[in-house]
Amino acid sequence: MGGDAPRYDRGMSKDEFHEIAHSGGQVVLRVGRDKDGRRVYQQTWQHQRPVASGIFAIYALAQGVPVCGLPLGGIGSPMPPPPFPGCYMVFIGSDSEGKYGHECPACKSYWRDQAGTNFCPNCGMQGEVQDFLTAAQRSYVAQYCEKMRDALAADADGDYVIDMDAVADAAGNAAQKPPFYYAEQSQQNKFECTACGGFNDILGIYGYCSRCRTRNDLQELSQKIVPAIRERINAGGPYEACVRDAVAAFDSSVGRYVEQLVHQVPLTQGRRNRLENRRFHNLAVVAGELKEIFDIDILDGLKPEDVEFAKLMFHRRHVYEHKGGEADEKYIADSGDISVRPKQALHESQESAHRIAGLVLKMAGNLHRAFHEIIPPFAGPIEQYRKWNPKSVPSS
Ligand SMILES: [Zn+2]
Ligand SMILES: [Zn+2]
Repeated sequence: MGGDAPRYDRGMSKDEFHEIAHSGGQVVLRVGRDKDGRRVYQQTWQHQRPVASGIFAIYALAQGVPVCGLPLGGIGSPMPPPPFPGCYMVFIGSDSEGKYGHECPACKSYWRDQAGTNFCPNCGMQGEVQDFLTAAQRSYVAQYCEKMRDALAADADGDYVIDMDAVADAAGNAAQKPPFYYAEQSQQNKFECTACGGFNDILGIYGYCSRCRTRNDLQELSQKIVPAIRERINAGGPYEACVRDAVAAFDSSVGRYVEQLVHQVPLTQGRRNRLENRRFHNLAVVAGELKEIFDIDILDGLKPEDVEFAKLMFHRRHVYEHKGGEADEKYIADSGDISVRPKQALHESQESAHRIAGLVLKMAGNLHRAFHEIIPPFAGPIEQYRKWNPKSVPSS
């Protein structure tokens, strides 16, 4: 089995970790005086470049400290007042793909989104837009506020421009970066959440949707990983490798859900010890632990003969992965499979490989739904998405 490593053709390596320029644009501060001679100013954002672009706005203390986000409505909609007098409104532009970079203050993860971030995809921390600014955006905010302070302190009336076009032009350029410089970086998995439609670009493959906190493991399994395995099965296998990979994909996803549960759900030390650093290779044991500790029934809705079959495939996976595909005494004792002798090579068929692939998806769906009963997603974006896209069906 050795030469046939799991292959998931994700077709994304060339697109990882490259700098994505700012979308450009210009912030114009028009500074004047009212009839009583007091300083007043107007702030506008203009954008003329032929790239995707968007902006959001935050309020920041004049010293450059981000305080809160503010919704930018349509033209003519009133601005919400700042939380403190003297706060500045700061426009933050997207990258040239119309996306925004974010950084988690808890785990330091970086990701990009498009429609508004509420959660860290990696650790699940909930926050407001100002909590998830990147270090580069924070430095931009500080410089922006400094420019505001200077403009308002100047004797002369007039227009002061923060030129983000120059920032956009400087991306990928070895020359010294202009002030206000920031750019974003593409990550490894760009996906649209099947629950809320939100765009995410995250490090690695798996995580929470940053908009609604739905985990993407099930959609990855059902849209990419299992279909790729089924393609290999249809192409003639080797079926043993397909069984191994289907079971491995499931047990690694169990590991990720359990890691989040251990991290987010209060547990006794005893239960924590039972779950931490363990592998999920024995289906009967995994199902029992999840049921007892979290009331999660991954076997829900499976026929008894399917449960028996899945247990057997989990035992076989171990043989395919670690024993070169040959049965040994331990496999026979653990699985109760008396159809083979020690040293005999095990074999799968197209049918058995497809069957376990289907069961893996069923169990993953059970795990996913029960997980989100414990750690619920944000209902707002999901309901909105369903209203606008009545045909959208979550991958579960
Ligand atoms: Zn985090
Ligand atoms: Zn989502």
